[in-house]
Amino acid sequence: SSDKIQERFEVYLAEKGLEKEVKVVRTGCFGLCEAGPIVIVYPEGAFYSHIKVEDVDEIVEEHLLKGRIVKKLLYKDAVEDDVIKSINDIGFYSKQKRVALKNCGIINPEEVSEYIAFDGYMALGKVVTEMTPQEVIDVIKASGLRGRGGAGFPTGLKLQFAANAEGDKKYVLCNADEGDPGAFMDRSILEGDPHAVVEAMAIAGYAVGANQGYIYVRAEYPIAVRRLQIAIDQAKEMGLVGNNIFGSNFNFDMEIRLGAGAFVCGEETALIASIEGQRGMPRTKPPFPANKGLWGKPSLLSNVETYANIPQIILKGPEWFKEIGTEKSPGTKVFALGGKINNTGLVEIPMGTTLREVIYDIGGGIPDGKKFKAVQTGGPSGGCITSDHLDVPIEYETLLELGSMMGSGGMIVMDEDTCMVDIARFFLDFTVDESCGKCPPCRIGTKRMLEILEKITSGKGEPEDLDKLEKLANNIKASALCGLGQTAPNPVLSTMKYFRDEYEAHVYDKI
Ligand code: SF4
Repeated sequence: SSDKIQERFEVYLAEKGLEKEVKVVRTGCFGLCEAGPIVIVYPEGAFYSHIKVEDVDEIVEEHLLKGRIVKKLLYKDAVEDDVIKSINDIGFYSKQKRVALKNCGIINPEEVSEYIAFDGYMALGKVVTEMTPQEVIDVIKASGLRGRGGAGFPTGLKLQFAANAEGDKKYVLCNADEGDPGAFMDRSILEGDPHAVVEAMAIAGYAVGANQGYIYVRAEYPIAVRRLQIAIDQAKEMGLVGNNIFGSNFNFDMEIRLGAGAFVCGEETALIASIEGQRGMPRTKPPFPANKGLWGKPSLLSNVETYANIPQIILKGPEWFKEIGTEKSPGTKVFALGGKINNTGLVEIPMGTTLREVIYDIGGGIPDGKKFKAVQTGGPSGGCITSDHLDVPIEYETLLELGSMMGSGGMIVMDEDTCMVDIARFFLDFTVDESCGKCPPCRIGTKRMLEILEKITSGKGEPEDLDKLEKLANNIKASALCGLGQTAPNPVLSTMKYFRDEYEAHVYDKI
């Protein structure tokens, strides 16, 4: 319906002779999915939510022609005591800090001029004209940026490894194969600010000595793919990608490679195999991609959100970045907040924000006055965090200590009515489907785990099944070949740790 709303604005503004005075800008996601479609009228910043085509004429008549804000159409938290709040004062946004999402919901992602107006491509200009490749790497190292795709490996070190590796040809790769159920962080960045990723990959190419980049994006993201292609084409037309960038002797070209939606292709060696045209299956490491990656050449591989941070770190400096977040996990993290929560959407928070702030201050709490039970972070590779840990700061290490992980940023909230055994079964079912089948612990072991879980949830489980399940889970974790298999048992193990009573209720009460 956003298409129709935009169309109606354009038609009605033209009818009123306002088409030159009022610009309708189609942006990417502004994060608050629950309130969509959203229309923001500037300069007042009036935040209209749940807009329908029929509301458009009233906004034009009242707000744009008579200067009267249409209060009944404002988002519920956008007005207080008759005073219109600025967007940053709206509860959902007030505790957020937008770095990776800086331009999402603000600029038209299909217009390079809008990206440039918000300092776009200045960082690329700076590195190729004023900095040596090693200086670029040193800035990223000093910032403490860690990979946002899950494991949190230091990005500066990754750049250094790829830069140091011997090779007549090197590659810069972007993992946009986001596949966790409920996750849409990378998709939103690509749809809302694709030039940020294009610029960052060119910067990374300069730093490691690569002249070719590939973005591996799943074909199920057609808008992201389209906007990314537009961004690459525009950057090429303007000489921001191609030969002699900014008059330097640095050349960098890039292309999109489409993935068919296999979750395992988010694993770096499987992703590389898929770009090469082979079946997307992981291989053992080492060698790591930084030394032997695409077509056997040194390759830097990072995910969309990691790249989206790089231009700003270059422009604003590592100290600026380190002031955000915590000592061990500087910066912000984008999460897709979903499940039993009032404000579903995309949130970007400084690392170190507590789960309580995310669930209650940003997420608006649990619907229908129900009690919070747990949140699943890290998708099918992660685990659940319970109400006992609501005040733990969110950063890589703390989540691991709780038996979960940051993952790429899915955050699914469960209320008091949710059966945690069902949740574990849901995620395991997903990983069984997505297993590539290369190694027996994952191919056979996760299938056996699922069978036991199905037996338990259908009221046919025996007490010894719980021990069997736990033993099998730990064996798979220790012996599977790649991260998918090694982490597949996590949702089962973490729910068994915190909600064993629910497993026992299924087994002993035969429910
Ligand atoms: Fe494939 Fe699973 Fe083995 Fe990974 S752990 S290689 S996904 S079978």
